[in-house]
Amino acid sequence: MCGIIGVENNDNAAIITLSGLLTLQHRGEESAGITISGEEKMKTFKAMGLVSSVFNEDVLINNFPGTAAIGHVRYTTSAKSSLINAQPFQISCIHGNIAVAHNGNITNFLEIKQMLLKKGAIFSHTADTEILLHLIAMAKGSFADVVVDSLRKLEGAFSLVILKDKTLIGARDEHGFRPLVLGKIDDSYIISSESAAVEVIGGTYIRDIKPGEVIVIEKGLIKKSFSYKKLKKQNTCIFEQVYFSRSDSIMFGQTVKEARVKMGEYLANQMKDIKADIVMPVPDTGYFAALGFSRTSNILFENGFVRNHYVGRSFIKPSQHLRDLTARLKLRPIKEVVNGKKIVLVDDSIVRGTTSKRLISILREAGAEKIYFVLSCPPIIGPCYYGIDTPSEEHLIAANNSVEEMIKYLDVDKLIFLSLENLIKACSCSFDNKKENVFCTSCFTGKYPTKISKNTYKKGC
Ligand code: AMP
Repeated sequence: MCGIIGVENNDNAAIITLSGLLTLQHRGEESAGITISGEEKMKTFKAMGLVSSVFNEDVLINNFPGTAAIGHVRYTTSAKSSLINAQPFQISCIHGNIAVAHNGNITNFLEIKQMLLKKGAIFSHTADTEILLHLIAMAKGSFADVVVDSLRKLEGAFSLVILKDKTLIGARDEHGFRPLVLGKIDDSYIISSESAAVEVIGGTYIRDIKPGEVIVIEKGLIKKSFSYKKLKKQNTCIFEQVYFSRSDSIMFGQTVKEARVKMGEYLANQMKDIKADIVMPVPDTGYFAALGFSRTSNILFENGFVRNHYVGRSFIKPSQHLRDLTARLKLRPIKEVVNGKKIVLVDDSIVRGTTSKRLISILREAGAEKIYFVLSCPPIIGPCYYGIDTPSEEHLIAANNSVEEMIKYLDVDKLIFLSLENLIKACSCSFDNKKENVFCTSCFTGKYPTKISKNTYKKGC
């Protein structure tokens, strides 16, 4: 998963992009980068690590004059966790200086890469995003036409910000798998993965970039906005609202917080006969669902974990060993809260089951009498091909075990998943007042909205 942002027509382009990246840090902690363009030549600075350790005032103010910028934070276990794949990617080609930042996964990457290699293309990265730059460099016509021609060749998930000199382009694949929003501050447009990154700097969220939309922004104006491919049906990732996105971002007409509260309410309605002493969230993502559960069930909300904020998300680490270590450091139970209690423990999801198992064992050590483990989404049974780094099927606990087996493995007294129907209801809000399901739910159903074969690439950004 990754976070992207772009801004143009602003003397503070670098600072706005930096603030955006800090706000999108949860979408990727491995590397961070900014490309800036203005009167001086376009330049990119990127490095491994958190945004705050990559960029300091000196790097920004002294090295980054310019009025248009794009930025990227990256997380992937894919194409090697190394500087070479940190984005934005910047190139110089027949069309000028171009930089791109991508969130998603181009599923026909391997096929296109083979075709490009045969034509003599030289690759310097291993990430899927690079093919887009090759396609752009080889195409002829106006820059917008070149981008459209190139996008039409791509399949899968891509939310993109592209910078060419001082022109900012945003694009979203025709399914709208990954989020992308349009915002404004003063005379400048901003394009970002999430609305929180626009609002944090005092900007205003305007709307979502539509699935299949390309938007070209120049000198503070939307020069063009059009659909490069007709969409059959929107398939926006529902897991963004379950886990990935910030609670203060707006999705489908409500904050993600609101969707999560509803997930908790629906869960409580699914288990009306439950008797427990406390409802307790697994921080941070379980927080709002636990609140919704508590309000609906009238069971006391209690915070029984202390979270170490200096340790990142446990999943966002490239190896199991690092994940294990980080999870241990991250959460400690408060004995007085959990000792002798019947606990409704609310988390967003179970993936491999390893973090959950560890958490439950430390809760047992702290004296929890009963643990009713409640998840704000259905069991994850299929890998994601559209940018969320879920492991392959053999590592997904729910793909290989029945609920009874999971109860035994996790050592819980009950295990309840939010039904898919209720999840969709919680996330839908007022989307154009339409009742149809506009979500990709493939990780819960194993039914994918695009063709999946053994050549399908899965490890994007
Ligand atoms: P586990 O079941 O041990 O693999 O870990 C599940 C935890 O990881 C959940 O509590 C989520 O908060 C978090 N999580 C779920 N999916 C992802 C993902 N794709 N990337 C990062 N973290 C995730």
